[in-house]
Amino acid sequence: MSNWQVPGYLQQVDGRLHMDGIDVSSLAKRYGTPLFVFSEKRIRHNVAQVQEAFHNSHVQTRIFYASKANSNLAVLQILRSTGIDIEVNSGGELYKALQAGFQPDQIIFNGVAKTEDEIAEAIRNRIFSLNVDSATELQRVLKVSQALGMPARVKLRMVPEIRTGSHGGLQTGTHESKFGISENELLDCYREVLANSVNFTLVGLHMHIGSQTPDARKYKTALEVLLTRAADLHAQTGFLVPYINIGGGIPVPYLKPDNEAHGLTAELFGILSASTPPSEIANFTVGQLGQNGFWESLGGETQVLRNSLQQMGVLVEPGRYIAADTAVLLAEVQNSKVRPGSNDAWLMIDAGFNTLLEAFDYNWYFHAIHASNEGKSLRPFKLAGPLCDSGDEFLDSERLDRLPNYRMLSEGAKVGDLLAFLDTGAYTLEQMSQYNGQRRAAAVMIRLSGEVQVIRKRDSYEDLLSHDLPLET
Ligand code: PLP
Repeated sequence: MSNWQVPGYLQQVDGRLHMDGIDVSSLAKRYGTPLFVFSEKRIRHNVAQVQEAFHNSHVQTRIFYASKANSNLAVLQILRSTGIDIEVNSGGELYKALQAGFQPDQIIFNGVAKTEDEIAEAIRNRIFSLNVDSATELQRVLKVSQALGMPARVKLRMVPEIRTGSHGGLQTGTHESKFGISENELLDCYREVLANSVNFTLVGLHMHIGSQTPDARKYKTALEVLLTRAADLHAQTGFLVPYINIGGGIPVPYLKPDNEAHGLTAELFGILSASTPPSEIANFTVGQLGQNGFWESLGGETQVLRNSLQQMGVLVEPGRYIAADTAVLLAEVQNSKVRPGSNDAWLMIDAGFNTLLEAFDYNWYFHAIHASNEGKSLRPFKLAGPLCDSGDEFLDSERLDRLPNYRMLSEGAKVGDLLAFLDTGAYTLEQMSQYNGQRRAAAVMIRLSGEVQVIRKRDSYEDLLSHDLPLET
C-alpha cells in the first residue's frame, strides 16, 4: 500500500485514486479540472480528533477554528454543525462566519492591521473577543468603542518569544515578527483596559507561536511564559484573566516517506513531515495543567492561577490541522516533453501558482500522485503549471532546498492523465488568483451520504471581467 493512503478515506483501487469510496476521475470528468475535492467525513473526523484531545483535560477548553485556513461557506457550515467556535482575521471572514451561522459569542477576531470599520463591526456584533495586537491598536479600539457607545471585549496578544522551528513565514511568536504587544507595553495595556470598564471588558491573554509547529514541546514552553505573564499581571493589578488563548499551529504531515522527498534539508524534512497529533499538543498544553510538578516549576505567583483554573478557560485556534487533509486538488496533464541531454521528462498541468499559491510563495510541498492510472513502474518527472512564468514549476527553481526537483509518477504518464495533490484543503482556496486569465478552480464536497455537491463554482470567462469596468466613451 502506498504510504500516503488513509484506509477508509483516501485509497488507490486498481491504480485509481478513490476518496470516500468515489473514483475521483469520475468527478474530474463531471466537473472539469482543476478541481478541489473535499470530504465532509474527513472534516468531521479532524474536528473530533481535536475535540477529543483537548476536552479530555480537566480544564474547560473551547476550540475556535482558524477560518483563514479555509473559509468556504460549505466548509464553515459543516464546522458550525460540529459545535466548535471560529476565529476570523478580517471583516470579510467575520461576515462569512456570521453568514455560515456562527453566533457572535462564538467568534474571536485577530489581526495586525484591523481597520476602524472592522473594529466597529466586531464591537457592534458583540463578538466573544477582539484580540488586540498593540498599544496603538488599543487606542483605536477605545476610540471606536467610545464612538459606538458600546464596550469592546478584548484579549491582549502577547509575544512569548518562542521560536518554533517552522518555516520562517510561519513563525509568529517573537519580536522579530509583526505580531503582538511588546512585553514592555503589556502591563500598561492591561491596566488601561481594567481602568476603563465602560469601554473594555478584559477577556484574556492570547498568543500564537506559529503554524505547522513541528515540536510539541514548544507549546509547553510558550504556555509557561503565558501563565507566568498572567500571574505577574494579576500580582500587579489584582485581576486574573478569565481565559488564556494558546493559538493554533497543529502540524500536518505533508511529506510522505517517498523517494522524491530525499535531498531536503533535515530542518525542512522535520517541518514538512511533522506528525504531531492534537493529543500530543494537548498533552503539552492543557494536559500540563493537571501534572504534578508543573506548577511548582513555574514558581510562586502562578499558584493563584492553579487555584482558579477550574473557572479559567483555555482557548485553542487550530486551522491547518482541521482543513488540510480534507481535500485533494485534481489537475490534468495538458502537455509533455522530454529534454535532450538531461533526458528530463516534463508534465505541464492545468494548475499552477494561480491555484496552489503556497507551493510557490512558501515553496510548500504538496505530495502529487497519479490519480487516473498509477502504474507499477515509476519514473521521475518535472512538474509545471500553465502560467507564462518560469517560476510556475513544482520544483526547486530557486535552489532553496525547499522542494524536490522531481516527482515520481507512472512511467507512462501522458496528456489527459489526472494528477492529485494531497493535503490541499488549507490555505489554498482563498489564495487562488486569475493571473494569466486563468479561471479559478471549482470545488466539490463529498457529503456523508456519498452525494457530491459543488461548493465553489469554477470562474467563467465573464468572471474574469466582472470587476473590470470599460472606459466611458
Ligand atoms: N491563530 C492565529 C492568530 C493565526 O495567525 C493562525 C495562523 O497563522 C492560526 C490561529 C491558525 O494556525 P494553523 O492553521 O497553523 O492552526
